[in-house]
Amino acid sequence: MEDEEGAECGKADFVLLDQVTMEDFMENLKLRFQKGRIYTYIGEVLVSVNPYQELPLYGPEAIARYQGRELYERPPHLYAVANAAYRAMKRRARDTCIVISGESGAGKTEASKHIMQYIAAVTNPSQRAEVERVKDVLLKSTCVLEAFGNARTNRNHNSSRFGKYMDINFDFKGDPVGGHIHSYLLEKVVSGPQAARGGGNFHAFYQVLRGCEDAELQELHLQRNPALYSFTRQGAGLSASESEERSHHRAVMEAMQVIGFSAQEMGSVRRILAAILHLVSLLPGWATSTRRPVLVSGNIEFVEMEEGQLAVAEEVLVDHVAELTATPRGQVLRCLLARTVASGGREVIEKGHTAAEASYARDACAKAVYQRLFEWVVNRINSVMEPRGRDARRDGKDTVIGVLDIYGFEVFPVNSFEQFCINYCNEKLQQLFIQLILKQEQEEYEREGIAWQSVEFFNNATIVDLVERPHRGVLAVLDEACCSAGTITDRIFLQSLDTHHRHHPHYTSRQVPPRPPAPPPCPGAGLHPQAPHRHRGRALVWPSLPCETAPRPADPLLPLTLAVPPQLCPTDKTMEFGRDFRIKHYAGDVTYSVLGFIDKNRDALFQDFKRLLYNSADPTLRAMWPEGQQDITEVTKRPLTAGTLFKNSMVALVDNLASNGGGVPGKTPRVPPSPQEPFYVRCLKPNQDKAPARLDEAHCRHQVAYLGLLENVRVRRAGFASRQPYPRFLLRYKMTCEYTWPNHLLGSDREAVGALLEQHGLQGDVAFGRSKLFIRSPRTLVTLEQSRARL
Ligand code: ATP
Ligand code: MG
Repeated sequence: MEDEEGAECGKADFVLLDQVTMEDFMENLKLRFQKGRIYTYIGEVLVSVNPYQELPLYGPEAIARYQGRELYERPPHLYAVANAAYRAMKRRARDTCIVISGESGAGKTEASKHIMQYIAAVTNPSQRAEVERVKDVLLKSTCVLEAFGNARTNRNHNSSRFGKYMDINFDFKGDPVGGHIHSYLLEKVVSGPQAARGGGNFHAFYQVLRGCEDAELQELHLQRNPALYSFTRQGAGLSASESEERSHHRAVMEAMQVIGFSAQEMGSVRRILAAILHLVSLLPGWATSTRRPVLVSGNIEFVEMEEGQLAVAEEVLVDHVAELTATPRGQVLRCLLARTVASGGREVIEKGHTAAEASYARDACAKAVYQRLFEWVVNRINSVMEPRGRDARRDGKDTVIGVLDIYGFEVFPVNSFEQFCINYCNEKLQQLFIQLILKQEQEEYEREGIAWQSVEFFNNATIVDLVERPHRGVLAVLDEACCSAGTITDRIFLQSLDTHHRHHPHYTSRQVPPRPPAPPPCPGAGLHPQAPHRHRGRALVWPSLPCETAPRPADPLLPLTLAVPPQLCPTDKTMEFGRDFRIKHYAGDVTYSVLGFIDKNRDALFQDFKRLLYNSADPTLRAMWPEGQQDITEVTKRPLTAGTLFKNSMVALVDNLASNGGGVPGKTPRVPPSPQEPFYVRCLKPNQDKAPARLDEAHCRHQVAYLGLLENVRVRRAGFASRQPYPRFLLRYKMTCEYTWPNHLLGSDREAVGALLEQHGLQGDVAFGRSKLFIRSPRTLVTLEQSRARL
């Protein structure tokens, strides 16, 4: 592959570096990036750098060059990985998956689109109509999901605010016959951290405002200007130009049609979006002398009348919401101002809201309606991608390629529950990466009968444990706070966290004094500057000196509820006393503000709203609220919290990736299970400014470090830099040896390879496995490549 690219483009595989140092790694990465080579391998892992500009790397011609080739035959490319996954799936009739990771804006979603395009292009040569339909839906679904699930942030104009795992089902011919999208934790934007992340709301809102015809807008009682609505006000100045927004709107409508959304359904979607905008919209001029404004943050406002009763400030908005949701106006108003509670037995009473409760309920309703809308869109797409005509899974002939595009590690000026979940997800995936690299190597060496040498790894299991451990992990402590009777506040939750984790080396809060500077790293360490825990090879040994010198708090007997005076924490000015806690993630330190954690985790929506929406005359909206049919006296079971649901889905996802290499996470594993390691695409963001062709070295170093890429290279090399099946090795190098060119007459390919290596004097640097040759030093490969190039 190097001859195709030319030596001046650097090493196409980091395994071929002379030395594995950060300097050498960065030099190669930079050199390649400058030459427009944004892809480089580490063995079979693809490292991708976002070019932030259109490069002539994609399209039918490029696809044709990669189709049917082995990974190493062509320069590194996403198409090569897509092709390798496809071939592996087809050849072995096993499920497989491609895991795309990297921080926000690193190019994950774009990568997943290129992979989809590749698969769509190389399949269905016989143009079967049903396969073409599935391919169309697969490709168009991206556009729809982006409209509803992506938003502008200061890191990425098109940031995915949900995680996506997309399965593509293939029949025995290798053609796509169906698919399934699994989505994870859509960020709640209404009162969410959009301010902190410097962006706007979901694209769908702006697209409706900018893209609808005047008459449609009138029907929705909307005005075109996003600045008029508190949901869209923030991103109004930032959003794409009006004409861009209009053309996006057109594209989304067209995609929805292709997928099979009916005109009636699309109308419902528009009305739901409009209802949300009204529910939280700002209309000036409502405050009068007899009414005392209670909240001035926008939205349907509530005022306390002088006699203490609550009223809605601008009732016309209630009319709009009622009309758009096809629900009775009186009931909408009642849901906004009061709630029904069961008071023992089958008795129910109506309890009036305070202004604060009413605002909370309104926001919770707006968020929940949007979330249900998003889930409905995903389910609707899934329903048209369901493999048709047979039980595809049971006949055992279908195989699946899963593509995981999930939010990257995030740090904002203020980090909340959403960032906490997103970063936990990244910890889980990083752990999987570490385990699989070790496991993969180990298993291959065992299978081939080769002795192997271990490499040191930073293991982030302790951070995952800090978050998800039963009974005392952060999520369990949060659940406990949410379930406790009485008014447990965010601050009390923080105290409880301190109680449980004040000794944990990856946890700090202002109530726990910071630890002295980290000890010098262990020999061979170097991945994570703050990481005190490492383990050797596969032995999960926790932790040993000098790595483990995590000091104890100044006085372990200090009453846990007693706050440490702020002067004891002089280095921790960035954390607010009693509000923040910090986790030392594998990718860096993140300070979380606990404010809102309990509410967001509890994610409560009063039953009245559910019943209201279930009784809507709009069948689409009604279908989104099946639980609304429950009687208030029957609603006794506490629903699972948002954090627990997220944890469960992450555990299912990672188990699935580790064992099945594909499939619908959270569902019963396939029968029979077919283990196969994921293919990995590790995306890097070259700079913070979205600037084309600029690679900011410090920023990239950080990502290379926390993604464990150097360790990845070391593992590949510490064992063997390269391994190749004997026939493939001969195919590539047989012309360099008289005994093997054009064909060998020796007993086996293995013997022929032995003769070839002996002629080059390289036999000392290899090991002969059962089916593959293992080459220890990259120099051996370079020597072979050079002698090949000389011919
Ligand atoms: P998030 O985690 O926020 O969703 P992401 O990793 O999915 O981020 P993308 O949305 O894929 O990031 O990429 C961000 C932007 O970078 C794209 O909108 C596009 O402008 C640019 N970009 C990414 N990959 C490429 C590419 N291969 N070629 C050209 N531009 C790219
Ligand atoms: Mg994305």
